[in-house]
Amino acid sequence: MSEQEPPASADGLRGHPAAAVTVTDCSETVMRIFEFLDGEMSPEDCRRMQTHLDECGPCLREYHVDQALKMVVKRSCGCETAPVELRTTILRRLTMVRIETSD
Ligand SMILES: [Zn+2]
Repeated sequence: MSEQEPPASADGLRGHPAAAVTVTDCSETVMRIFEFLDGEMSPEDCRRMQTHLDECGPCLREYHVDQALKMVVKRSCGCETAPVELRTTILRRLTMVRIETSD
């Protein structure tokens, strides 16, 4: 019987060799996905995001969800800012889809 438990971070187990150099972690990635999608990041940050997304499945899924959300929002009202209600509805639907497809 082992008492060892996995670390709190769900996906930090693959040992990113560049972790000491880059500051990109999952929470930062998720927080800045819209910046990335909007092309508001510096080329350097873009590259870090891209690298993290390539390595991190959960963040890549989040990225795809946000990308889809952004497209839906753009089409439905022609502007960047969606009403909170619409946004919540879309997010809920996307989350459901995500749960369905993850299994
Ligand atoms: Zn991640």
